[in-house]
Amino acid sequence: MTILVTGAVGFIGSNFVLDWFDQFDEDIVSLDLLTYAGNRDNLSPLDSNPHHHFIKGDIKDKGLILEVLKKFQVRAVIHFAAESHVDRSFCGSIDFIETNIVGTYHLLETVREYWNNLSDIPKKSFRFLHVSTDEVYGSLEKIDQAFTEKSQYRPNNPYSASKAASDHLMRAWNQTYGLPILTIHCSNNYGPYQFPEKLIPLSIMNALQAKPISIYGDGQHIRDWLYVKDHCRAIRVVLENGQLGETYNVGSRNEKTNLEVVETICHILDELKPKADGSSYVNQINYVKDRPGHDRRYAIDATKLERELHWKSEESFERGIRKTIEWYLDNQAWVSNIVSNCSKNLTQKSTHENLSHG
Ligand code: NAD
Repeated sequence: MTILVTGAVGFIGSNFVLDWFDQFDEDIVSLDLLTYAGNRDNLSPLDSNPHHHFIKGDIKDKGLILEVLKKFQVRAVIHFAAESHVDRSFCGSIDFIETNIVGTYHLLETVREYWNNLSDIPKKSFRFLHVSTDEVYGSLEKIDQAFTEKSQYRPNNPYSASKAASDHLMRAWNQTYGLPILTIHCSNNYGPYQFPEKLIPLSIMNALQAKPISIYGDGQHIRDWLYVKDHCRAIRVVLENGQLGETYNVGSRNEKTNLEVVETICHILDELKPKADGSSYVNQINYVKDRPGHDRRYAIDATKLERELHWKSEESFERGIRKTIEWYLDNQAWVSNIVSNCSKNLTQKSTHENLSHG
């Protein structure tokens, strides 16, 4: 049997697939439309692995998805495919509606048709795991608060609204049709293979290119940083042991202001890649006008996942960010390729000079 992974050559998807083959040899079909955010090369280490199958395709393509589900006897779908960049959602919200809501709807309907026709045992063990975000809960005001699975939905930007809508579809397809759904809400991920439009890889890239490292507003917006490998492990745990119809929050209790994150990056780069003139990368930090609807603070309470499924994050922010910076330093060719392939997209859509703080 096989796992179908949508959005498999994006940031989290490719980490998930690579991690999977470090542990198992159960087949994976990696499906991806290869938008600007998808990079086929991320999974090139698996090119000679007979258990890995890459298919270029759209989650909206019912004929293709149904054929894949049947041909590979898929036992679970992990749904990452999405438009994921908040800044792009300000001026291109239609893409977010089309992919995150309409695309998810088509995928759900196709999977439902396949699942309905399975015989008893595979039907019972089938799983559809949806990867969503803590941003659906909006912004936290009080310092002692954290999002739980019971927090109210209060999305504040087109991206988070589209993810919130997709979560509601998940819930409804579970309640109405009994489709075996699991949903994850994770905090900001970081690690290898992240497209350099998000805060961490963008800051590293700009630092190395001697460009301004921009920070929105006063830099005091707080995010709860989750190392992507910890997230991948959480997905595997929820897939195998999660309660159907339930949602699970995934976070590492690594709350940092954006300024702290950027300063940490600068200090590590000062050590690993000192500038010729001996100055610090910190001098490149540049404050710019805040973005609209910028949520002040996200923090995840992952107690449910920790208590019920015995998952715990393993990576501290200090270790994880160092590993991430080392990866980007060792993979400068990956960064140049992805940027040159996508330079049009990078300059075209954002009214905010390629910034994102997730
Ligand atoms: P990403 O933008 O790096 O990757 C998305 C992938 O989906 C790309 O490879 C893209 O080509 C593919 N895709 C887009 N439209 C598609 C379509 N119609 N059919 C098939 N493939 C399509 O995103 P990511 O950061 O890896 O995020 C993965 C998922 O996790 C998303 O659903 C996102 O909302 C969620 N999430 C991400 C974070 C984060 O910090 N990155 C945090 C919380 C939740």
